[in-house]
Amino acid sequence: MKRTLPCRDCRRPILWTITEAGRRLAVDPDPDPAGNAACWRDGTGAWRSRRPSADLPLCGWERLHMPHIATCPDRIEQLALPIGVASLDARRRKKRP
Ligand SMILES: [Zn+2]
Repeated sequence: MKRTLPCRDCRRPILWTITEAGRRLAVDPDPDPAGNAACWRDGTGAWRSRRPSADLPLCGWERLHMPHIATCPDRIEQLALPIGVASLDARRRKKRP
């Protein structure tokens, strides 16, 4: 079982992972092949995540998850997305008709 916590913004369940840089990254708990976070559980039961690359593609024990910041309905409204996921709506809003 995955231990999830409700998102502070939208209250949906999210899975907290630790990135290779030691940062916390919230991802959606269900694997998503369109996601860009490769997640696995380490020996201590902690969820880890990393960005797959050409040198280190997805391993057999990893699953792709979508970072929650890319799907959180509240965050998408508030923040510029820092993970390379372009928000088309935000871009359209900036353009003048
Ligand atoms: Zn959320």
